[in-house]
Amino acid sequence: MRKAIFPGSFDPITLGHYDIIKRALPLFDEIVIAIGVNAEKKYMFTLEERKKFIEEAFKDEPKVSVVTYEGLTVELCHKLNAQFILRGLRNPADFEFEKAIAHTNRQLVTDVETVFLLTAIDTSHISSSIVRDVIRNGGNYKFLVPESVKVK
Ligand code: ADP
Repeated sequence: MRKAIFPGSFDPITLGHYDIIKRALPLFDEIVIAIGVNAEKKYMFTLEERKKFIEEAFKDEPKVSVVTYEGLTVELCHKLNAQFILRGLRNPADFEFEKAIAHTNRQLVTDVETVFLLTAIDTSHISSSIVRDVIRNGGNYKFLVPESVKVK
């Protein structure tokens, strides 16, 4: 069984993340979206909100589940018996950042492979930080995120 972890902050999930997950579905039997908990990071949405947004967006997709985790992503992979880490690439900055993480993960463990999907043309400009800026400034964020993302 091919199982992948898609780790990230998802603060909040965007149409960019959504697209990567949808396109990865034919490649894997199971995709676990793993929301990383970093005590030093300040988030706009609570962990529960971020989890709910993702669960709702994929409620009709049995291959997708959502977990939260602390610690190393490769350790989560071992714990959940996942052989792959899924990540998305938007631009050269993403590539450099992801390359360093993937190489480090390969040095930590040799039985987990990182798989990259290139962003779609329509969503390549979207990031959670831009979505948060739009929300903070009262703009229309609806065309950047799945319908499940709602600001109170
Ligand atoms: P992190 O805090 O780990 O960067 P994010 O939630 O921002 O977590 O992103 C998780 C993954 O989704 C990363 O691999 C990131 O490159 C990818 N990603 C984010 N936005 C997009 C997008 N618009 N298109 C493709 N991949 C994306």
